[in-house]
Amino acid sequence: MAMEGDKLSGAATATAAVIALTCFFALAISVRLIKLLLVNRKREKSCYLNSESKPQSTFKRVLAENSYSQFKHLKLHASDLQADEECTNLHPYEGEISRLINNPNVEILECLYGDDYECGGSTMGCSFVWVDSETGLRELVEVLSEVRVFAVDTEQHSSRSFLGFTALVQISTKRNDYLVDAIRLHDMMGLLRPAFADPGICKVFHGADNDIIWLQRDFHIYVVNLFDTAKACDVLSKPQRSLAYLLETYCRVSTNKLLQREDWRRRPLSGEMIEYARTDAHYLLYIAHCLCLELNRQKNENSSPGDKFRFLLEASRRSNATCLQLFTKYVEACPGELAAASIISRFMNDQENISGLCNTKFQEIVRLLCTWRDIMARLHDESLRFVLSENAIITLATKIPTTEIEIRSTISKADEDSEFTTPFPYQSPSPVVCSHLEDLICLLRESVSKIGDVFQLFVQQHLGPGGSCPLSAYNYALMSKSNLRQAYRSTSIHTRFRVSKQVAKKASRELFVQKFSCKSPVYHNCKIYADDGRLLCYCDRRKLEWYLSRNLAKLVEDDPSSIKLLFEPKGRPEDEDNDFYIQSKKNICVGCGEANHYLRYRIIPSCYRIHFPEHLKSHRSHDIVLVCVDCHEIAHAAAEKYKKQIAAEFGIPLFVLKVVNFDETHHIPTSSLPVETSGEVGVSPLELRTAAMALLRHGPRMPSQRREELMQIITKYYGRRETSEEDLERALMVGMSPHERRKFGKKKGFTFKHLRINEYLNDEEENNIDSKTNISFQNASTDEISDSLDSNTGETDQKQYYEDILMVKDTGVTTEPSSSCIGGNNTVFSANSSYMNSAVKNIPGSELASDPNYNNIFGNSSISAGQVRDSSLKHESKLSLLGHGPHGKQVVEYLLKEYGADGINQFCQRWRQVFVEALHPRFLPAGWDVMHSGKRDFGEFSVYNPANKFGDVSDT
Ligand code: AMP
Ligand code: ZN
Ligand code: MN
Repeated sequence: MAMEGDKLSGAATATAAVIALTCFFALAISVRLIKLLLVNRKREKSCYLNSESKPQSTFKRVLAENSYSQFKHLKLHASDLQADEECTNLHPYEGEISRLINNPNVEILECLYGDDYECGGSTMGCSFVWVDSETGLRELVEVLSEVRVFAVDTEQHSSRSFLGFTALVQISTKRNDYLVDAIRLHDMMGLLRPAFADPGICKVFHGADNDIIWLQRDFHIYVVNLFDTAKACDVLSKPQRSLAYLLETYCRVSTNKLLQREDWRRRPLSGEMIEYARTDAHYLLYIAHCLCLELNRQKNENSSPGDKFRFLLEASRRSNATCLQLFTKYVEACPGELAAASIISRFMNDQENISGLCNTKFQEIVRLLCTWRDIMARLHDESLRFVLSENAIITLATKIPTTEIEIRSTISKADEDSEFTTPFPYQSPSPVVCSHLEDLICLLRESVSKIGDVFQLFVQQHLGPGGSCPLSAYNYALMSKSNLRQAYRSTSIHTRFRVSKQVAKKASRELFVQKFSCKSPVYHNCKIYADDGRLLCYCDRRKLEWYLSRNLAKLVEDDPSSIKLLFEPKGRPEDEDNDFYIQSKKNICVGCGEANHYLRYRIIPSCYRIHFPEHLKSHRSHDIVLVCVDCHEIAHAAAEKYKKQIAAEFGIPLFVLKVVNFDETHHIPTSSLPVETSGEVGVSPLELRTAAMALLRHGPRMPSQRREELMQIITKYYGRRETSEEDLERALMVGMSPHERRKFGKKKGFTFKHLRINEYLNDEEENNIDSKTNISFQNASTDEISDSLDSNTGETDQKQYYEDILMVKDTGVTTEPSSSCIGGNNTVFSANSSYMNSAVKNIPGSELASDPNYNNIFGNSSISAGQVRDSSLKHESKLSLLGHGPHGKQVVEYLLKEYGADGINQFCQRWRQVFVEALHPRFLPAGWDVMHSGKRDFGEFSVYNPANKFGDVSDT
């Protein structure tokens, strides 16, 4: 800039000029200085994103950003916009989709069995349309408006994005394949909305669940009128439902599914990726066509002409049901808490012993790191995994490094050592960590201790004015007041408590799904044919091998394996007027059809069933069904409620009411206990155990009043005033079955100071099934779940154990020795350890038992509690007194005595009714029946013939 001083003259002017000049330079210098300072500050905490650009940063509009506020679904009508948002975050096409489900219309599917499908779907030519301009997209929209059906698949990218985003949408019509660049056209993809929502156009997907959610999340695209080829496979009971299988079977095309993990952000796409992406959509129309024809053929064989399209419509119904799903953001009130809970529980399961103090600190650091990771992932739009791995979190929380160098090396070491067989797929430590190391130092030195502080601190520091990290469409909403409030909320103790309960529930559900659900299909659907080629039944592979290994059958087919029996079986399925046993069973939840996770559910609770005589246990496959975790929860709750009703009806309490300990020297037999003192003498085993545990763990720190109350419970049991710590430890195990005692003895985290636990464990070798077989995740805390899992130490043993408690292992002889107690031969139960001297008694005159209103289907036959007491419990050492075992045994004994086998059959029917009323299951196998009696004689070679001791049969 030039000064104009030379035009001026005179001293005064010169002086003025000097002053002006000085001022100018001073100003210029200070501005530069400030700038320099600012730059330095920026450089000091420069974020890697300042020098790296990610494809999603070009998106102008992001529907699902990374804040903690809920996703807003498309609003079609102005009235929806005005109404309260919470209430109207509904599916915009719920009405249309429900209509398709409730009044299915074959016409909209006619396009699928038209005659213009080329055999094999015709091989893909080399031409396809790459759509990456608005014009191209508009042309495609035009094309789609003219067709009756098109096929769709999508590819998404998830590692360098918090929620993931759709990178490519493949659309195939009968004429052409279109690859839509959903990154380039991100802000215009809404143009496709009408075609996807048009009920007159059928959309074919394979396994649409994810795609449907992703299209909603990124583009507000909703699918109406879906034909999902995977659902069609389910309806047809295809042996496999993968796209690879269908491509192979119908089109003789093989595909390399490894490509689904490619980085779909890449442009241009490689030839291989283009080929893969096209393949995923191109053949779907032809495959759907073939499946349609098969669905319509099924009608001819199995059903009346009246419901000609029954199977096709069922496939369509199931497909459209998936369209009703809504994308929701998973919002935690306390960011990262669920991940922390899962990491902590995983770590606890792995660790032998961590002392209490270390443990608290460890957990605290894991929580802080998870919160930090959650914020940083949202702020930089990266996946959690990319920011910091679970292994790294665990190692940081164990080693607690505090310098930059140590932190870096701890993280990279942890990732090197991770169980990845392939090289660790990300940079370690991640650029997020490297450019924000000061945050970790701060966290690990515990300069911030409250999780709420972490949130404020880092969001402000990184995104606030002069913050280190760039603002983007993904993260700006993190700064908004409502979001900060969301995070502050977690600092209030009151809400934190409520919130962590929710979080704990979610975490335990996740854990439950992960640990209990069956990892491989339960039903193998192997077939057993009779000599004359008639299909006898479906079974699992082990059963099949059992016959093969004994030369009782020969293999006749592979995949699925089928055998032909070499002997004449006793009876045929049709003799029994029951096609249940020849149904091929589907690996889905019988309640809702969920196929991703399921576990076995016993309709007749095990506490009863294990006491059934062997020949009445034969309908095992009928009464053990697959249910998803959520349906399991509903069914389980109903069963627990019904057990209470049974208890009342029969006057047989669910829990053993009282136990009393008398010194070995003057042991008084049960029957001679004076009834009138029962109010004061004895205590429930559950109450006793809880009190003892509380006293051992927290005794010294308890308010003295509470301690006194608990001590009274212990005193009631021992019948004497002074009790030692050893007594408390002994009390912990009162009422446990040997199995539970063993489990408890091996449990980590509790050390007996006074008892040599092994003495209590090495008694009878029992292989009794835990009576509380149907576990509930909601009623059990995470702790209890892991309790019930910890019975074995080894990984595989542990896995076997879950299977033991959840799988069908009802062949009786090996797994359920309890059947022998029905026969009255009780010698195996002879007690030989000291606490067997506990006398057990039920309190007579229970109100419920004497209530004349408790009638049951067996007539007016409530048994008196006296009978209960009389049926001696002295030999019940095998049964846990903590669960419902003794109750179940007495109920079954009573039924057998009064009504014999019919009593048991009716009892089973009642339980099936309870199950049906609780779940309204829509996917029970055909032939399943509440009234099922399934009387089957066991042939000479049957695996169920008690003479043939057969290990593990999963199903009939
Ligand atoms: P597909 O339609 O089978 O090609 O899968 C669609 C998208 O799902 C892919 O683009 C991936 O983002 C994701 N995906 C599916 N399977 C996997 C996997 N095994 N690992 C990682 N991502 C997967
Ligand atoms: Zn940053
Ligand atoms: Mn695909």
